[in-house]
Amino acid sequence: MIQNILVLGSGSAGLIAALSLKRKIPQLNVRIVRSPDIGVIGVGEGTTPNFPKHLFDYLGISRRRFYQLAEPTWKLGIRFLWGERGRFDYTFAPQLDAKWSDLPMPNGFYCDDEFSCLDAPAALMRADKAFHRQPNGAPDIQPWHAFHIENKKFVEMLEIIARESGIEFIDGRVNGADRGPQGVTAVHLEDGRKLEADFYVDASGFRSELLGRALEEPFESFGSTLFCDRAVVGGWERTDEPILPYTTAEQMDAGWCWQIEHEHHVNRGYVFSSQAISDDEAAAEFLRKNPKAPASPRIVKFRSGCYQRLWVDNVVAVGNAGGFVEPLEATALMIVCSHCQTLVDFLLHNELEPTPSMRDLYNDLVKDTWHDIRDFLGLHYKVNTALDTPFWRHCREDTDLSGIGGLLDFYEENGPTGFCRYRMPRSQSDFGIEGYFVMLVGNKVPYRKRHPVTPQEKAIWEARRQSNILQASTALTVKESLYFVRHPGWSWYGEGAG
Ligand SMILES: Cc1cc2nc3c(=O)[nH]c(=O)nc-3n(C[C@H](O)[C@H](O)[C@H](O)COP(=O)(O)OP(=O)(O)OC[C@H]3O[C@@H](n4cnc5c(N)ncnc54)[C@H](O)[C@@H]3O)c2cc1C
Repeated sequence: MIQNILVLGSGSAGLIAALSLKRKIPQLNVRIVRSPDIGVIGVGEGTTPNFPKHLFDYLGISRRRFYQLAEPTWKLGIRFLWGERGRFDYTFAPQLDAKWSDLPMPNGFYCDDEFSCLDAPAALMRADKAFHRQPNGAPDIQPWHAFHIENKKFVEMLEIIARESGIEFIDGRVNGADRGPQGVTAVHLEDGRKLEADFYVDASGFRSELLGRALEEPFESFGSTLFCDRAVVGGWERTDEPILPYTTAEQMDAGWCWQIEHEHHVNRGYVFSSQAISDDEAAAEFLRKNPKAPASPRIVKFRSGCYQRLWVDNVVAVGNAGGFVEPLEATALMIVCSHCQTLVDFLLHNELEPTPSMRDLYNDLVKDTWHDIRDFLGLHYKVNTALDTPFWRHCREDTDLSGIGGLLDFYEENGPTGFCRYRMPRSQSDFGIEGYFVMLVGNKVPYRKRHPVTPQEKAIWEARRQSNILQASTALTVKESLYFVRHPGWSWYGEGAG
């Protein structure tokens, strides 16, 4: 029976895993070993809506505390400066997989010319506003938001909460592991110490010390679908720029650029393919398009893919130690949170004696998540017809989307109908058919079964959009909303301090 857990790494993945295990299974003895010399990756700042649910509802972390210590801003979605339209917004609420009761077809069939402001979050994004006002003037903070967080502040906050939750921290650099028939039996530290546990969580980042190095699990590359493998990272201190309530993803000559909004800092980075351009060329394009960025931006290398199995014997990997894809949909923390919940469910169900078939099931489910993300990100590239550079031509011609071939064929014949969901290859998808529609409709991917929109339908359509636009015009910006939630009288759904 598992009693002692050792988590290797105290980046956001290791800390979220340790807290999930300790808070949900308090009888476990959870320790974290981490190397202050190696430190944390220090990037990874956009989230999805399952992140606040995990922190507040699942782990029970107080919102007040999180806002005080992590100083987040809100993210309502992603603004894509992308494809033939030049711009479209992906919110966390269903815009296209929805049908207005007074129109005969789902929303996607009306978006040939205009795809914006289809619902409240989309209209807020278009107006650069965060939340509608309550009758008392305060922001009406709805659950369809995520956060922008600074990695360093977030990790510091989690460490404080982890210590308070009874998790022990050991500083030291792991330089080897002993193996037995059940997996890892101990890890060795550089200073000669040896740490033993029944179960290990590998959260050592790209080093993947236990799953990759000690257990030598094979790595599955996503290189035939995702061609980017580096990022130029460089932000600047905010001056007069408004704090936007969304992440921006903007196409570049050999990849794309993110912009993440912190209160005092604008975080910008260019994800590119080293096959297409050199580091110097990428940095030059980045600086040309972002004159406020530092003159020598940092280059981060990565490989897209994940290990064949994420749970091997008594080792489970989370975060970058298990797999990585570029942050085009900010999915890393999303899957850390969801996989930690699955792990806890499985351990509890097996009364801390996990069976091999439960472990296999975990691996299958987790692998499905990774493949869903791979295919969804690949779609972003394949359908973007805007730029005619060698990189984008390569993406259109060679991106392997065989994982979602059936869905794409069905869409090309039938368009954005909800029936497409039955052609999705997996029963679970973090993006759902909505996400796929946003990419297909956003990029104007043609389909054959057209709906002839009547002038009357068009008028209903436009009136609804205008009503959303009008409502958003009186809403609050991020800056105004932050002012409210920082007021000592602000109450988070009646929660106390904790
Ligand atoms: C360019 C880029 C942009 C990204 N953007 C996003 C984003 O917008 N949203 C998102 O969710 N994610 C993003 N990510 C992913 C982000 O890095 C992860 O979500 C997140 O920070 C988790 O990191 P981690 O905890 O797995 O690894 P790390 O932060 O690298 O932590 C690894 C830990 O392991 C320890 N360690 C490693 N080796 C040893 C050893 N031998 N001995 C002892 N300790 C060791 C380290 O000290 C550290 O504590 C991005 C990543 C990159 C590269």
